[in-house]
Amino acid sequence: MPEKKKKLYEGKAKIVYETDDPDKLILHFKDSATAFDGVKKAQLEGKGSLNNTISSIIFEVLHKKGIKTHYIKKLSDNEMLVWRAERFLVEVVVRNLAAGSIVKRLGFKEGEKFEKPLVEFFYKNDQLHDPLVCEAHIDLMKLAPIEALPTMRETALKVNSILSEFFSQNGIILVDFKLEFGRLPDGSIGIVDEISPDSMRLWDAETGEKLDKDRFRFDLGDLLEGYRKVLERISQ
Ligand code: UDP
Repeated sequence: MPEKKKKLYEGKAKIVYETDDPDKLILHFKDSATAFDGVKKAQLEGKGSLNNTISSIIFEVLHKKGIKTHYIKKLSDNEMLVWRAERFLVEVVVRNLAAGSIVKRLGFKEGEKFEKPLVEFFYKNDQLHDPLVCEAHIDLMKLAPIEALPTMRETALKVNSILSEFFSQNGIILVDFKLEFGRLPDGSIGIVDEISPDSMRLWDAETGEKLDKDRFRFDLGDLLEGYRKVLERISQ
């Protein structure tokens, strides 16, 4: 069991701790929900454990398919051991159906299916409300090494096909999701952060019920009930 040392950083949903191994960190998933760049907040007992568990299952599915991530193992209800990474300031979003910001920005109808998955890049910056950026901005502002972009895009599309199939087998539609990337201790580029209903849109394939953070964003019902349904389905 790695020993938990100094607190390195506390974010909206997680606390990051150093360990006795300089290359490994512990992520502690908090029981807090936030939306709209932290403007809407709530404390929800059990959320940290649900996100940690769902994220761990997803990372394990991805590892089996050869996708490189920072995940090492789940340590406890709320904790995950990960490789330390130099994180890029870019969020990569993949969309299969229109929802959220693309509906507002470009006028798509919610639920409209795209001909092929769409990949977008956003600048990770709460104060600027995570603006959409193109490759030239990423290069100019050095948000990520420009030579890493093709790998990030290809990995995001591969993850999309793996997870779309995984969720579809469990009666869930993967509408869209966000990935973050970074440089791992061995020099390779891998997925960092969490992959959970906080960072994905998941709709019940039969009823269309929203099972993700939109429940919290738009007061659509008990957030944890949605997350529990996701966990139940993917644990079968
Ligand atoms: N997303 C995220 N963190 C962000 C912004 C978006 O995890 O800071 C996720 C979001 O949950 C959704 C996808 O990325 O699954 C696309 O989000 P969108 O651009 O529609 O933004 P939103 O309207 O959700 O803020």
